[in-house]
Order: sequence, then structure tokens, then C-alpha cells
Amino acid sequence: MKYAIIADIHGNLEALQAVLKDAKEQAVTHYACLGDVVGYGANPKECLDIVREMKIPTIKGNHDEYCSSGKDPEGFNEYAREAILWTRAQMTEDDLKWLKDLKYIRIMANFTLVHSTLDGPNHWGYIFDKLEAAASFPYQQTPLCFFGHTHVPLAFIRDTAVRGGTYSKFKIEAGRKYLINVGSVGQSRDGVAKATYLTYDINSGQIELRRLDYDMDTAMDKIRKAGLPERLATRLAEGH
Ligand code: ZN
Repeated sequence: MKYAIIADIHGNLEALQAVLKDAKEQAVTHYACLGDVVGYGANPKECLDIVREMKIPTIKGNHDEYCSSGKDPEGFNEYAREAILWTRAQMTEDDLKWLKDLKYIRIMANFTLVHSTLDGPNHWGYIFDKLEAAASFPYQQTPLCFFGHTHVPLAFIRDTAVRGGTYSKFKIEAGRKYLINVGSVGQSRDGVAKATYLTYDINSGQIELRRLDYDMDTAMDKIRKAGLPERLATRLAEGH
């Protein structure tokens, strides 16, 4: 069994297609999605349709929540707010219900899925450092937990203490807990302008971060044509 863990697709169809193609080539057999299927990109509906049709177990991100809640997206920056309002208008009632019904946390096999943090899964806090990771670990009941939200792939390990950092490949070891950010499919923010996801081979314990080129020009073009803020196009190329 080999999982592809994907997060923060953010309506970027070209990036999602590149990820799904690569996952096939990597002999992935199962998928899981950490939320924020929609928001920012120009193809939220198409991305949602793919995730739903593939029956990918998915949990709720903050964009999914605000898009489907009908609430005014206060607390978001102006670009995000505009994108949420635009995204909401692209969705059918069924789509909004699907997003609304997503859970904040899910446990599968030996891992947990959460968008932001386990200590406040619906408060949308960020885990960037080991102090923030240390606050989440006590709530983690499985050896592994995958999360998204920051769009920055980092892995934290707890044994005698909590430590963490960037990663590309490593093996899960017994007796430790792992809290792993899988990066973002559709809007990278760690300076690497690629579509990012993770594979997890459940038999060997091998974790691998996958970073892929995709048709970014088309994705940027569509954002501009949709009348979404220019910044949402340029940041794809900047990876920030
Ligand atoms: Zn996100």
C-alpha cells in the first residue's frame, strides 16, 4: 500500500493533474487530501470534481470552510477574501454541501489527517516551528500525522524531545511520533515554485516528498482571465 498525501490544491488544476500523473508513475494505490481543495486558483470546481470522483478521503481546510459557510471571510487578506468570494460563485449547491460536510480530522491506517493543528483543528493556527509542533503532539493518537495549511513542507519528530526541519526522504521508525507537512499542490510558499505532495509507503515506512514542474503558465493565465487578483498569478511563479 502506497499513499499519496495531497494538500492545498487551491483550485490549481494544472498542478493537480501533474501530481496525479506522478502518483500513478510512483505506483500509488491510495490517496488522502488535507483540505483547501478550493480558493486562489481558477479551477476550484474542476479540482473538487476530481477529488470527489476519485473518492479521495478529504478533510476540511479554512478556504473550504469559508467558501461553503456563507460567512464573510474576515481575517483573510484582501487577495484571499476576493478569491473566496469568487470561488463561492463558481460552486453548485452540491459542491458547497460537499465542502461543508468535510470533517476537521480523520484517522486512517496509522496516521491522522488535519489541515492546520491537532490542538485547534478548526482555529486555523499554523505550525512552522517545534514549539507549535509540540502543542499539537499531545493530541496525536497515531504514530503519524499529516497536515497542510502553511504550504511549507516540514517534518517534526517527537521522541525524547521535539525536533524538526526540511526533508526530502526518510523512513518512519517505531517508538516515535511524526507530524509532517506535505507541502502544497497548488500554491507553493517555501520558495520552490513546484507542485508538491508526499508519498508514504506503509509497508516500508518510506516517506518521500515529490516536487514537480507543471504547466504554470496556463494556471497563471487562467487566474488573470478569471479577473482574480494579479498577485495570485505571480506568486505561483515566485513560490511565495
Ligand atoms: Zn491553503
